[in-house]
Amino acid sequence: MDMGTNSLPSPSCADGRKRRVCYYYDADISNVDYGEGHAMVPRRVAMTHALIASYGLLNDMTRLRIRPARPEELLAFHDQKYVHLLGDLTPAGYTNDVALRRAAKEHGLGPVRRPDGSYPNDNPVIDGLLGYCQGYAGGSLAAARALCGGDHDVAINWSGGMHHACRGQASGFCYVNDIVLAIKQLLARFRRVLYVDIDAHHGDGVEEAFADSDQVMTLSFHQYAGGFFPGTGSVDDVGKGAGLYHALNVPLKAGMDDQGYHELFKPIVGRAMQVFQPEAVVLQCGADSLSGDRLAGLDLSVGGHAECVRYLRGFDAPLLLLGGGGYTINHVASCWCYETAVAVGREEIPNEIPHHPYEHYYRGQGYMLQYRTKARRSPRDGDKKEADAIRVKALEHLSAIRCAPNIQFHEPREAAAQGMDVDDDEEEEEEEEEEEEDPMERLHRLCDDADLHEFFIELGRKQQRLSSSCML
Ligand SMILES: [Zn+2]
Repeated sequence: MDMGTNSLPSPSCADGRKRRVCYYYDADISNVDYGEGHAMVPRRVAMTHALIASYGLLNDMTRLRIRPARPEELLAFHDQKYVHLLGDLTPAGYTNDVALRRAAKEHGLGPVRRPDGSYPNDNPVIDGLLGYCQGYAGGSLAAARALCGGDHDVAINWSGGMHHACRGQASGFCYVNDIVLAIKQLLARFRRVLYVDIDAHHGDGVEEAFADSDQVMTLSFHQYAGGFFPGTGSVDDVGKGAGLYHALNVPLKAGMDDQGYHELFKPIVGRAMQVFQPEAVVLQCGADSLSGDRLAGLDLSVGGHAECVRYLRGFDAPLLLLGGGGYTINHVASCWCYETAVAVGREEIPNEIPHHPYEHYYRGQGYMLQYRTKARRSPRDGDKKEADAIRVKALEHLSAIRCAPNIQFHEPREAAAQGMDVDDDEEEEEEEEEEEEDPMERLHRLCDDADLHEFFIELGRKQQRLSSSCML
């Protein structure tokens, strides 16, 4: 594989090291049609790809070979009965076969009655349903395998990120949960995986799949309350059993802007990186948290959203970037294109969108990649106080896992599954080097943020008072 064209070092990385980036794109996925008027428009991924190409970013990444997920690979998470149903369902069969229609409804496919009496068709029975699922799940699995192989530091699949799908249930435009499948793939090589979800909606399907696991920490930032879908993800929802405090939720008010968002995101994610010490990170980059989304009410700019990518890229852990929600499709494509630029270390790409076949879609945003929209709701007096309380609570939850007996930070890594060799001597040397550095100093170095440093020093003092036995 020619690595000579891969990504550049970036001053945004704490270690300034070059990141080797691979990228998955399958045009067939973009041609799938959820139906007239449906909010989910897979064509946004083709728009993203065209924009990425127009900026010349494809030259900075390795293209992953396309292989749809095999049905048996979907069974690593999903019920056999459900996967068979996805293969059997066609629009004509759904219309003409009563038994098939009944089975579809039981699994959230086709119009399904909600408690409020409405019949939304969130997960329509579409042509080529199983093939579509195999396509986007295959992309996330290929990306995960690329990280497991060790030849890449960042892997991207913008057609993935379907975080609502459950074991035997379609939900919220998601049929198969490629994120759960990818995390399971990563666990064959990495002992601990951190999942961060910046979609406007709660990452409920992923959280539920790993709720009792201490190998996977799920951390979701989402709009909450007011009947906003799916209605779960309160700050008190923290996992269960061995996974207690390994599921964290950060509920947000509509109108949350970049500054308010990062006053929560950076301390909480930074702390999670410190206490959980993940060996791989998955970031679901749902773009419905952007300002001006058709369905959600958060107010992030493209730069604010991409700051999450930049921040996590700065840690030296393999990073899987996935898509997700996002319903104002020109905004989505702008965001994921810019995040691709961040991933490959080319944040300085021109703001003016280059000439390309989808150019006319960007007229409403003045052909600017980092478009501006008017905030829909000004922050209110109580919002900051409420956000501060959420931050304190989330950090307290993270403190609790330091006492959990199931985290063995220095256990020897077993030879990884699937025939991948691990050089144990090298591993031990790296771990010893890490031990020599003070954890607070290391975090400060990674965060590159003086205010945050002060914040953690104060937090450390507070926790020392609470329990000296829980220190790392
Ligand atoms: Zn969403």
